[in-house]
Amino acid sequence: MTVSEPFAPSNFIKDIITADLKAGKNQGRVHTRFPPEPNGYLHIGHAKSICLNFGLAAEFGGLCNLRFDDTNPIKEEVEYVEGMKEDVGWLGFDWGDRLFYASDYFEKLYEFAVQLIKKGEAYVCDLSADQIRETRGTLTGPGKNSPYRGRSVEENLSLFERMRGGEFEDGSRVLRAKIDMASGNLNMRDPIMYRILKATHHRTGDKWCIYPTYDFAHGQSDSIEGITHSICTLEFEDHRPLYDWYLDQLGVHHPQQIEFARLNLSHTMTSKRKLLQMVEEGIVNGWDDPRMPTISGLRRRGYTPESIRVFCERIGVAKRGSVVDVALLEHCLREDLNKRSPRVMGVLRPLRVVIDNYPEGQVEELEAINNPEDPTMGTRKVPFSRVLYIEQDDFREDPPPKFYRLAPGREVRLRYAYYVTCVKVVKDERTGEVNELHCTYDPATRGGGSSDGRMVKATLHWVSAAHAINTEVRLYDHLFTKEDPDEIEEGADWRSNLNPKSLEVLTSCKLEPGLAGVKPGYRCQFERLGYFCVDPDSSVDHGSSANRAFAVGPNSAVGSDSSEGKLVFNRTVTLRDTWAKIEKAQAQKKGR
Ligand code: ATP
Ligand code: MG
Repeated sequence: MTVSEPFAPSNFIKDIITADLKAGKNQGRVHTRFPPEPNGYLHIGHAKSICLNFGLAAEFGGLCNLRFDDTNPIKEEVEYVEGMKEDVGWLGFDWGDRLFYASDYFEKLYEFAVQLIKKGEAYVCDLSADQIRETRGTLTGPGKNSPYRGRSVEENLSLFERMRGGEFEDGSRVLRAKIDMASGNLNMRDPIMYRILKATHHRTGDKWCIYPTYDFAHGQSDSIEGITHSICTLEFEDHRPLYDWYLDQLGVHHPQQIEFARLNLSHTMTSKRKLLQMVEEGIVNGWDDPRMPTISGLRRRGYTPESIRVFCERIGVAKRGSVVDVALLEHCLREDLNKRSPRVMGVLRPLRVVIDNYPEGQVEELEAINNPEDPTMGTRKVPFSRVLYIEQDDFREDPPPKFYRLAPGREVRLRYAYYVTCVKVVKDERTGEVNELHCTYDPATRGGGSSDGRMVKATLHWVSAAHAINTEVRLYDHLFTKEDPDEIEEGADWRSNLNPKSLEVLTSCKLEPGLAGVKPGYRCQFERLGYFCVDPDSSVDHGSSANRAFAVGPNSAVGSDSSEGKLVFNRTVTLRDTWAKIEKAQAQKKGR
C-alpha cells in the first residue's frame, strides 16, 4: 500500500452505512458529527475521530457537523473552542454552516426533560452525590431505589422548575431518569439527567444554573441535528442502551450509535486531563509545544495535515483497542515530506574547516539539487569558500572500523563541491577538544566527482562560514520513555516516565544563506539530518522554565521563537525510519 492510495479500504462502519443505505434507512441520508468537549486542545486521537466522521460523510455524499459538547461550564473555555475550530480546519475538513453547540439546545433539552417527567419517566432526587453513589449497587448486586423515586409528576415538575429558577444549592438536587435500579447495566440505574451548577457558561452566561449531563445532552443533540450515524469510542458502548432509551421514550429521530476503538499511540499520552496537567505544571511549553501530541503541537512541529490524514486512513477502524506504534505516524510524515521538501545544507554542531590550498577571498557558486524526488523543483547555488563548517560528528581523530567519514589523512566528498583531505587537527590545549581542521581540496573534483575514478566512501554536508546564517535548532524526542506512558512502578505516577531528553536546544547552528528570510512554517530537509521547519510565531508564552528544565547540555538556554529576523527551526522528524525496520521484521516473521 502506498501513501497516496486513492481507494480507502472498507471497515465495519462503512459496512453498516452501506447496509443502511441499501435498506433505505434515513431516506438515504448519511449525516455524522464530530462532538468535542471544549475542555482542552484536540490531539492525534481526536484527529482519528475527525478523519473518520468527516471522511465517512464525504465518501457517502453526506454531511458532517462540528458540535461543541459544552455542557460543563467549569472546564470549558472559548480559547478551546477557537483552538478546536482552527485544528479541524487545518486538518482539511469543512463543516460549512454546520457549527453547533449543545448549549444552543439547552431550552430544547429542558423541554425534553419536562416531557419525560410528565410521562413519569424522570424524577427530582434529593440524595447527595455520595448517597447516590452508595445506593447505586455494584456490578454484581442491584442498587436501591431512591426514597424520592415515588414523587408525583406535579411535585417533580414544580421542583425541576425551581431548580432552574436557582432556588437550590449546587449538589442539593438532581433530575434522574426513572429506569431500573436493578439493571445489569449501571448506566441504566436511574442515571442523572440534570445537575445544579451555579457557574457562568462561556456561551449562555448566567442564564442557566442547571446543566444536562453528557448522556442526556448527547443523544438528544444528535437527534435534533438529524444525525444518522453517531460514531463514538468504545467506552460509550455501555452507554448505548441509555442513548437508545432516551430517544425511544421521547419518540424523536433516533440516530444509530456505533462504537470504535480509540487510537492509542506508543510513547504518547492521549488523555486530555493529563495533557492539561503537563501544560499547567510547565512540563511542556503550552498546548502547542512541538512535543505535544496535540494537533496544534504537531502543526508547530512541522507535520502536514496530509500525513496525519494518511496515517488515520492507514490504521483503519477497529472494534477492539490496540496500540499503534508512533513510528508509523512518523513514517507517514516522512513519506509526505520526502516528496515535497526542498533539500538544504545545515550544520547543527559546527566544526570549522580551513581549506589550506583554496585561495583566500575566493567564492564559488556551486550548483545544488533542490529535490532529487522532484526534478521540477530545480537547482540552486550555494557558496563555497576557504573556511567551512562541517558536522562535529563527521570527524573522528581515531576512526573506529566502519567509520568512513573524515579522519586525519582521509579523503571525503563535500556534497556538490570537492574532495577534501584532512591534513591537520587543531586542538584546544587545555581540553583536548578538536577546534578546527585543516584540509586540502582537489580542484579537479569540482561538483563532487573525480576524473581519475578515485572513490571516496563518504559525502558530507557543509556550509561556507562567511555566508552561513546562525540559527537555533530545537531537537525533539518522544515525551515519554515508556511505550505505555501509564505503565508505572508502584507508588510512582506517569510523570516518572517523562523523557528528560525530549528537548535539546542547539544555539549555534549554521545554515546555507539561501534560507535567509524564509517564513515561519517553512519546511525543508537538512540533508542527512532530517526534516525541519521554521517555528511559527505563536502567542504562547515561551518564557516558562519548562524548556530549560528539559534542555540538555551547554546549549540549554532557549531564545525567543522565530522573530526579529532570527530563525528558530524545529526538527520535525529525523531521516531514520524505524517503521520501515519494523515492517521488514514483520514481513520476515510472516515469511518464515
Ligand atoms: P474527555 O471526554 O475525557 O474530555 P475525550 O478525549 O473523550 O476526553 P471529547 O472531546 O469527548 O474528548 O472527544 C471528542 C470525540 O473524539 C469523541 O467522539 C471521542 O470519542 C473522540 N476521541 C477522543 N479520544 C480519541 C482517541 N484516542 N481515538 C479516537 N477517538 C477519540
Ligand atoms: Mg469524551
